[in-house]
Amino acid sequence: MSTVNALISRKAVLHNFNRINSLAPHSKIISVLKANAYGHGLLEMANILTDTDAIGVARLEEALALRAGGVVKPILLLEGFFQLSDIEILLTNNLQTVIHSLEQVEMLEQISLSGQLNVWLKVDTGMNRLGIHAREFEDIIRRLKNIDYIAQPFNYMTHFACADDLNNPFTQQQAEQFYQLVDGQVGELTLANSAAILAWPQTHADWIRPGLLLYGCSPMINRTGKQDGFEPAMTLTSSVIAIKSLQAGEKVGYGSSWSTTQDTTLAVVAIGYGDGYPRHAKTGTPVLINGQRFPIVGRVSMDMITVDIGLQHQVRCGDDVTLWGAELPVEEVAQYADTICYELILQLTSRVNIQFID
Ligand SMILES: *Cc1c(COP(=O)(O)O)cnc(C)c1O
Repeated sequence: MSTVNALISRKAVLHNFNRINSLAPHSKIISVLKANAYGHGLLEMANILTDTDAIGVARLEEALALRAGGVVKPILLLEGFFQLSDIEILLTNNLQTVIHSLEQVEMLEQISLSGQLNVWLKVDTGMNRLGIHAREFEDIIRRLKNIDYIAQPFNYMTHFACADDLNNPFTQQQAEQFYQLVDGQVGELTLANSAAILAWPQTHADWIRPGLLLYGCSPMINRTGKQDGFEPAMTLTSSVIAIKSLQAGEKVGYGSSWSTTQDTTLAVVAIGYGDGYPRHAKTGTPVLINGQRFPIVGRVSMDMITVDIGLQHQVRCGDDVTLWGAELPVEEVAQYADTICYELILQLTSRVNIQFID
């Protein structure tokens, strides 16, 4: 064991996959494993998810790492390819690609290749990030149909900007625009990320694209995965390395930004922003020591945090500390750090040992 460990529960991942499946029983699943499977380990996650219909990644490097690791499932590049020389690599490695721009279509037209490339045409329905405009749709379809190494029919995709907000009608508008545009096309459809899988069943269509839910966290505003029947896959742990008594009025940590108002005890815990723990976690951010909640006080350092454990504590050096996990939702920690749980689970550094448990 290293000092800081991210324990990943296979059982939780499989539970989450099955729960996703039961929320959208008629849809096939593209499990999204980009960014090292949101910090959980790319190959290991692919090997756990044996029932997924496909895997989605953001970068060609991620797809090639999966193939090199022996993964034979369909793999989709969610951002597509970036340059002409990538196209042949896609075909050689049997990778599917999103097409989201006219520039990509032009690159595809420039070369002739043997084999069949599966493509997903991405339509921008208002997020204004990736995707072709509705006004380009007919022209691009016509051009794609003329490229003989592109497999037909191709599939269609869009992405939501606000699906995490139940009160925002924009998701429904985006979905309607998408369904109208692709009406009459033969290919399969995908719209839903985790938030839409949970909150917008009318968007499930042929394929869903869960990322965060696989890891047991909630994308919804002010909710936790647990509240929707998911189990956090990751538990981040460290230990207490020092305990010290302080009198009222003493200052703690860099910048002396926090001081005691009464006599108390501090536990120093071996984790900091050098491990990927958020430096902006505020005083009051909870941690669990021996299963009991205590607040962080003062600034997060590179290698340590300081925790106020009060006068009546039972804490000893070497005791286990949980920074997030089943008993302390990472969604809650993220609020204290003014960020989203996505960032916390995937920004752990190489100093953290990822360990799989059953
Ligand atoms: C990352 C990503 C997803 C998964 O998003 P979650 O919110 O983690 O479910 C789905 N679709 C696309 C295009 C993505 O880039």
